[in-house]
Amino acid sequence: MDGSVLGAEELSAALLAMEEQFVSDATAALAAAVDLERQATLSGDEGLVMRARLCRARMNVRTGEITAAAREIYAIQQWAAEHGDRLLESRTHAAAASVHQYSGDAAKRLEHSLSAVELLDETATHFMQIWHRARLADALAETGEMDSARLRYRQAEDLAKRRQQWELLRILLNNWAYYEFESGDVAQAREVIDRMIGHAETHGLELDPPTLHTVGEVQVAGGEFAAAEQTMLTCIARYAAGFVEHVADLASYRLTLARAQRGLGDVVGAQESLDACRELCIELELPAILVQVHEEQANLYAARGDHASAFTELKTFIAARESLRSQEREAQAQARQAMLETTEAREQAERFREQARRDPLTGLRNRRFVDEELPVLIARDPRLSVAVADIDHFKRINDMLSHDTGDQVLVRIAKLLETGLAAAVPHGFVARLGGEEFLLVLPATPVPVATGALDRLRQDISAHHWHDIIGDLPVTISVGVAGISETSPPSQSAVLATADRNLYAAKREGRNRVIAGTPRERLPRVYRDRDVSE
Ligand code: GH3
Ligand code: MG
Ligand code: MG
Repeated sequence: MDGSVLGAEELSAALLAMEEQFVSDATAALAAAVDLERQATLSGDEGLVMRARLCRARMNVRTGEITAAAREIYAIQQWAAEHGDRLLESRTHAAAASVHQYSGDAAKRLEHSLSAVELLDETATHFMQIWHRARLADALAETGEMDSARLRYRQAEDLAKRRQQWELLRILLNNWAYYEFESGDVAQAREVIDRMIGHAETHGLELDPPTLHTVGEVQVAGGEFAAAEQTMLTCIARYAAGFVEHVADLASYRLTLARAQRGLGDVVGAQESLDACRELCIELELPAILVQVHEEQANLYAARGDHASAFTELKTFIAARESLRSQEREAQAQARQAMLETTEAREQAERFREQARRDPLTGLRNRRFVDEELPVLIARDPRLSVAVADIDHFKRINDMLSHDTGDQVLVRIAKLLETGLAAAVPHGFVARLGGEEFLLVLPATPVPVATGALDRLRQDISAHHWHDIIGDLPVTISVGVAGISETSPPSQSAVLATADRNLYAAKREGRNRVIAGTPRERLPRVYRDRDVSE
């Protein structure tokens, strides 16, 4: 990375290139993603930072840091949802689907693949329109839903043709053919392969080794051994000429070549190819391919008429397959456990955060919640009103009855304020600021409207049947109201200071009343009852 600094537009273009490329060298791509993230952070544009973080997380999935990547992808998803960024959200679901592909959870993979498609709208790029549908088809095929998969593949194929995305078309047809082949439908696989080869020829695309391998496998399955041998020789030659990223793939290419050669009756050639494959499997530790080597070796012994060796090899094959299956199950269980732990840790962190933002006695929001949320509301709602409510002569209740009784009154008042406010304004909240003092927040409610609603609340509290808790003692509140429009510039401290001043005025003027307005314009005693203390 050369440390150069990109402008926002260049950065966005660089990110798009990374979002929509097929990466073969994940480690190099990871370094590039880290650099883009650094640049995005410097730019101060949060949306670009999130996109860069997602690129990095996607590469982390590829380099094996699945758990950390999953956590990151989830966080970006939350951000995208909160900020209404549908496209980023769609991309996070596509990334989450890959995570579950790696951890082997086909159901979760399908769920995220579906969301990735559902979130597409007309602003989505051609790549997303095509690729997210193709990946949904892959996920469906993986769960055995070939009919539904074909529907999506066909949609993706049509779109890719209309948008002239030939490379995407080649890749999605390759995946389609692969899943048809895996599901045992060689004829369908053949058809898809033929279309893919046709497109590749028309548009001058060279088939890459993985695609040629699918072709070769389908040819072997269809008994076209001579064609399969040619395909696999081309595949291996192209691989040697530069597709050297995935050394492990070479082993499976040699295996398919061996199968084609055995089909042709060339047992010597087949044995050579199989031996080369076995060597790679041992060198690179590829147990999954090694299992297939045992199976092919048994077939090869049988083709030579050596049935005793074929039988022994078959037993080795079965044992190796069993051991591989249990290893795979264990690896998947571990991956799932890791995913579960992230989910649990996240939920627990959310519970702690939620608890830390509530008052334990009344269950209302607390001062911390207010300090975190109110500035946000103030910044975006010019018609926001707030009110500070304080219980009148609360000390008397504590002194004449008990502290415990005082607590019961606090809990009841909290409930009355909360239900009363919810009935008056949507999306408002009540917080206990401390002692017997409460803050009421009324979004999109001009001061006169807020004052009316608060006065009804005040009346309800004084008319409430308190008898069961405190006998004949009256319970009333005094309220000071302030509107965000009255303070300039709008700030939490200014609006709370105005509300406090009005509360103090309400106390001074005899309690059990609501007072609003700035000192100059205040119309006193608009909302006034007899002070219970007098
Ligand atoms: P005013 O009408 O002027 O508000 O009179 P007041 O008695 O309500 O006000 P003051 O500030 O003198 O007393 C508040 C009392 O609230 C004092 C304190 O003991 C009591 N208090 C504060 N927190 C709690 C609590 O959590 N539970 C109980 N039971 N009492 C509390
Ligand atoms: Mg009080
Ligand atoms: Mg008080």
